[in-house]
Amino acid sequence: MNARLDHRNPLVFDTHELGRRPGALQRLTRSVPAPKDFGVADVIGIPEGNPVELSLRLESVMEGVLVSGTARATAEGECVRCLEPLSRKVEADIQELFSYHDADDRGRPKAEPGDDAEDDDDRLFIEDGLFDLEPVLRDAVVLALPMQPLCTEDCAGLCPECGVRLADEPGHHHDAVDPRWAALQGLAETVKDGEKDSIEYTDGATPGAADEKQEK
Ligand SMILES: [Zn+2]
Ligand SMILES: [Zn+2]
Repeated sequence: MNARLDHRNPLVFDTHELGRRPGALQRLTRSVPAPKDFGVADVIGIPEGNPVELSLRLESVMEGVLVSGTARATAEGECVRCLEPLSRKVEADIQELFSYHDADDRGRPKAEPGDDAEDDDDRLFIEDGLFDLEPVLRDAVVLALPMQPLCTEDCAGLCPECGVRLADEPGHHHDAVDPRWAALQGLAETVKDGEKDSIEYTDGATPGAADEKQEK
């Protein structure tokens, strides 16, 4: 099912010390470097190599080893509204059974052959007394991450007109129209009603407007 596990991989755990006597317990803590792609792409995640603090409880049961505990790490990402960088402490719960390959027939209700195959795909196994926590840890951490991280609960986001971060500029607003446009708009209106001749186009900067005036 998978390549031989490497006991030097910090996310591979050895169950030999725990043994196979049902009820045996082992508690352990371990700090591991976060593997690659530990998060939600481009939103938030644990940067590769950042420490993930594991606090685990290994319990020997008939069919394998029940692993439970927590993983703590600091995720980094950006606010989905204002794009400011942010970091979040995350705590993920872990609970998974790693089965012995030879435990299938012991105490397990006999399942339909079809169900059995499907079941095996989802199950995680102990290989030569070792198990790999990485897929379990990855799922748990991703689940614990905020899908829509915000720098603050009420982040106002960015100004839709100029893109300034609203939290940085309390009271930021624009007059209905940008002053430069307002000037042009005033001009256009003047031209449109065609009655006012007090406006002079002295520098030829608005030939279009002048033409328009004449066409009317
Ligand atoms: Zn924000
Ligand atoms: Zn603005």
